[in-house]
Amino acid sequence: MILEVRAVAPFYKNGFVVGCERTREAVLIDPGDEVDELLGAVRDLDVDVQAVLLTHAHIDHTGYVPRIAKSGYRGPVYTTPPTAALLQVLWPDAAHLHEEDARYANRTGYSRHRPALPFFDSEDARRALTLLRPVSFHERVELAPGLAFTFRRVGHILGASFIVVETDGKRLVFSGDVGQHGVPILKDPESPEAADHLVLESTYGDRLHPDGSPREELGRAVAEAAAKRGAVLIPAFAVGRAQDVLYHLRSLQREGRLAPDLPIYLDSPMAVSAVDLYCGALSEHDIEMTTLQDKGLCPIDGPSVHFVRDRVESQALNGRKGPLVIISASGMLSGGRILHHLKHRLPDPETTLLFVGYQADGTLGRRILEGAHDVRIHGQSVTVRAEIREISALSAHADQRGLVDWVGAIATPPRAVYLVHGEPAAREALAAALRAKPGWSVVLPREGDAIELK
Ligand SMILES: [Zn+2]
Repeated sequence: MILEVRAVAPFYKNGFVVGCERTREAVLIDPGDEVDELLGAVRDLDVDVQAVLLTHAHIDHTGYVPRIAKSGYRGPVYTTPPTAALLQVLWPDAAHLHEEDARYANRTGYSRHRPALPFFDSEDARRALTLLRPVSFHERVELAPGLAFTFRRVGHILGASFIVVETDGKRLVFSGDVGQHGVPILKDPESPEAADHLVLESTYGDRLHPDGSPREELGRAVAEAAAKRGAVLIPAFAVGRAQDVLYHLRSLQREGRLAPDLPIYLDSPMAVSAVDLYCGALSEHDIEMTTLQDKGLCPIDGPSVHFVRDRVESQALNGRKGPLVIISASGMLSGGRILHHLKHRLPDPETTLLFVGYQADGTLGRRILEGAHDVRIHGQSVTVRAEIREISALSAHADQRGLVDWVGAIATPPRAVYLVHGEPAAREALAAALRAKPGWSVVLPREGDAIELK
C-alpha cells in the first residue's frame, strides 16, 4: 500500500491518494480546491482511481471533484447522504464563482491564459453531481476484494464523517475535520476504536478553546454590540458555522437574553439553502434540536430571522441602521458578500466585527484580527474603526484537547499518526501532545510525500 499525502500546506488544501501496489488500484480521499498536484500523484504512482471518498462537503475537501469530472473521471464519488445534499448547493455555487473569476479576468486582461477559462464550470459541477453515491453512516462498502470503507459521524458539519478504510487487512483512519462535543444541532462525534494508520487534522493543534459556554459569550458580545445600536457583522462559513450561530442567537432570543425583535440577517444564498437542509436532516439532529423541533418550527428559523438571497436586497442592508446582526460569508473574508458590508461598516465605530471561526494566515480576517488599521477591499483602502471581537470556542474544529481525546479511544497505538491540515505551529504542538502518549509515533508529512503503509 502507498499513501500519498498531498498538499498539507497551506493548511486549507487536502487530498490523499491511497493506492495498492499489488493491484494498482487507488481511491482519492478529500480532493480539495485547486489541487492539480493530485492528478500528478496519481500518474507518478501509476494507479487507477476506482473511487473518490469525501469526508464532508466543505469545498476545501471536495472542490476538486468537478475538475476531475471535467477531465474525464466517471467513477463513483462516495459520501454520506447529507453531504451529497449539501454538495447540490456547494458545487454549482463554486462553479458560478469560477465562471465569474474567468469573466473578470477576461474583462480586465488579468490572466496568463487567453481567454481565461474557469477552473470548472456549471456543466462540470452538474456532471460531478451525477457521480455522487450516497452511503449511510456505518454502512460498510466493499470496493474490491480486500478494499472496503465505512463513514462514521465526526460532528464537524452536517453529514461530516471520518473514514475507515480497510485494505489488505490494515485499518486506515482519515479524520477529515473533527468537530467538538456538545455543539448545537448535530450528534456528537464518534471515536475510532482502532487504527493501524491514522491521518489526523491539526487545525487547532496548538490551541485550547476557552472554558465556558460559547453561547453565553456570543450572547454577551451581541448584547453589548446591540446596546451601541450598531451593526454586528459575523463572518461565517456558509455551511456549518452560519447555522450554528443562527441556532445560538435564536436560543438566546427565545430565552429572553437577547431582544426577541433584534433583526438577524442571514446574507448568503448558500447559507440559506443549507438552513433548509439542516432543518430537514432529522436523523442527524441531537436531542436538544429534536426536542425543540417536536414543538413545531425549525429552531434555526424564527420571526426575527431574515433570509437574504437576492443581491439587491443584500446591498439594501447598507441603508439599515442598527441594532442588527448580519451573518454573511466568507468566514475568513476572502470573498463573498461580507466584503461589501465590511467596506461600508468597518469605518463606523458603532460596528462590531465578531469572528466566530478560524482565520488562516494570510487572510484578510487574520490581518484585521491582528489589529490592522487600514485594509484593502475590492481595491479600496478601508479604515478599521469598528470594534473587533473573537469567540474561538464556537469553532467547528476540536482543539488540541479535543483531538487528543478523540484518538483516546484507540487502545493500541497506531503504527503512525500523520498530521495534516494545520499550519506548522499547530502540527508541531499536536505532535508533541500525541508523542507524550506511550508508544505513539507521529509523522509530519510534507506536501507530496508518499508513505508506505506496512
Ligand atoms: Zn471542514
